[in-house]
Formats: sequence, structure tokens, C-alpha cells
Amino acid sequence: MCKLFFLLIVLFLVSCQQEEAGQPVSDNVSTVPETTALKYTQSEVDMTLKQVSEHVWYTEGAAGAATENEGFISNAGVVITDEGVVIFDALGSPSLAQKLVGLIREKTDKPIKMVIVSHYHADHIYGLQVFEEAGAKILAPKGAEIYLNSENAVTRLEERRVSLYPWVDEHTRLVEPDEYIHAAKEISLGGLKLSLSYLGAAHSDGDLSLYVEPDKVLFSGDVIFEGRVPFVGDADTKHWLETLEKMELAELAALVPGHGPAATQPQEAIKLTRSYLAYLREKLGQAVEDFTPFDEAYTAIDWSKFETLPAFDEAHRRNAYQVYLSLEAEGF
Ligand SMILES: [Zn+2]
Repeated sequence: MCKLFFLLIVLFLVSCQQEEAGQPVSDNVSTVPETTALKYTQSEVDMTLKQVSEHVWYTEGAAGAATENEGFISNAGVVITDEGVVIFDALGSPSLAQKLVGLIREKTDKPIKMVIVSHYHADHIYGLQVFEEAGAKILAPKGAEIYLNSENAVTRLEERRVSLYPWVDEHTRLVEPDEYIHAAKEISLGGLKLSLSYLGAAHSDGDLSLYVEPDKVLFSGDVIFEGRVPFVGDADTKHWLETLEKMELAELAALVPGHGPAATQPQEAIKLTRSYLAYLREKLGQAVEDFTPFDEAYTAIDWSKFETLPAFDEAHRRNAYQVYLSLEAEGF
């Protein structure tokens, strides 16, 4: 009797301790996979996984400005193999990445093995910590370290902690990759061949694309934008255009851009980005050559073939200015 009383006291004390620690008394939580526990503020955006081919899915961000739609403006790819899952780009907040993991878990319980980052810009990387915490290896293009070590990366994150609060907050951090890719690389996983192409500094300081060989699907990252004005930022538009011209797209079954819908006619999809960059370079190149000040040149140039595209108001004038500055620097 005395022993039983002692046992009840011990059980009572253990139960109190668990409640003090904020843990539920029952331990059935441990049956839920770690990745589906909602650690980050829940996202309310409309996110779906769209199937592109046998092994490939993607989720498509909205066509708006960077802080619209909870920052869900970029795409992420999902490749499901027999051995595990590969993610292409990590979305613009931990909340969005957490939501994506939830959608993946409806399709497979295979581990998330790897995240391939097309480039280090805010809208593609703030979800990385979710995948890192799930044990995924992170691969990024050489050049990402320039961004990671820049003042710009720090100020952008500070700004997004305000403009995208509560989805980006003080717990959101920059995640370094486990491996930098500086040349072509092939990865075999679960019977699939994945080919990484290092594109050099095109849209950013370093860009990668991923080709899922058996499915003939290309994830292009932001070197190709579909259905909206591209974000040029501080891109090397000369090398970017050259990269686009070298891409062999005839064989592809589908192309998933960094922003906008997947294209089943990649040759068409590439036209917008290519003609946009070429037009900017041609018209502003003429202005630089004639020593025409930017404002005067911008007002005089006919932009009508792009002005009905989404993101024109948010992105175009800044793009034009960046291209004007870079053309001056190229020494026209
Ligand atoms: Zn982007």
C-alpha cells in the first residue's frame, strides 16, 4: 500500500513537471513526423502542388511585388524519387516552406534529401532553414557567398522582417549552403539522373539550373521569367542574354521558370525574357552612347509592348535604370 502511494506521488510529480515545461502529458505528438509540426507562423496563402511530369511537381507564386501574397511570388520545384525528395528553391519565408513541406507530405513520406538553390535572392532563400532543420543538404551556385557576405543581405532581411511580418521575423535567418557548385554536376538519386548547370553570374552573382533527365524537365531559376516583367536587379544582362541564347530547349518536355507558370513550349517561354533584356540593352545602350540622361531616355522610349505585363509598374523603371548604369559601366 505504501509502495503504491509512493508510485502515485512520483507519477503526479512527473506529470506536473511536463505541464510546467509546456509539454502535453500524452506523448502521442511523437508519432507526428517532425517536419509537419508547425513551428513557424502558419501561412494562409493559396498554395498547391502542380504535377509537371512523372516525378516532378512545382508550386507557383503570384505575379505581384516582392511583399505581396505573404511574399509567395516565386516558384519552388519538387522532385520525388524512390530514395527521397529534392527541392528546387526554398520560397520567401519559413512559413511558406513549412506549407510546402505539408503539401509534399500528402504525396510521400520519403525524406527531403536536398535543396538546390537557383540563386541567393530573398524571395528564394528565406525558407531554407525549414529544410536545413529537416536534415536536407543545401547546394547553391558559386557567387551565393558574395550575397551572403554583403551588407545588402543584412539590410534586406531586416526590411523583410518588417514588411513580411509575421512570416519573416527575428527567427528568420540566412542559411549558408553545404556545397557551392561551380561547374556542371550530375546527381543520381532513386534511379533518377539530375543534372545541375552552373550558369555563372547572369540574373544574380551566381545562377544554377536543374535538369531532371528522365522527365526532360528544366528548372531554370530566374534566368527565365514567364508571364511577367523579369526582375533584373544588379544582373549582368550581357552574360544573362548570352546564357539564354546558349540554352538548348528543343528537347524539353517542360520548363519551370523561377516565376510564372511552367511552360510546355520552352522556346516560347524564353522569348519574353530574351526580348525584354535585348530591348532594354538596345534602347538604353543607344541612350548611353548618345550621353542622353536616364530620365530623358526613359520617357522617350516606347515601352508599350511590355507595359501590360504583370509587375511592370513595380519592376520596370528600376530594371531600366539598372541596365542603364551597367551599360555605362560596360563602357559603351
Ligand atoms: Zn526571384
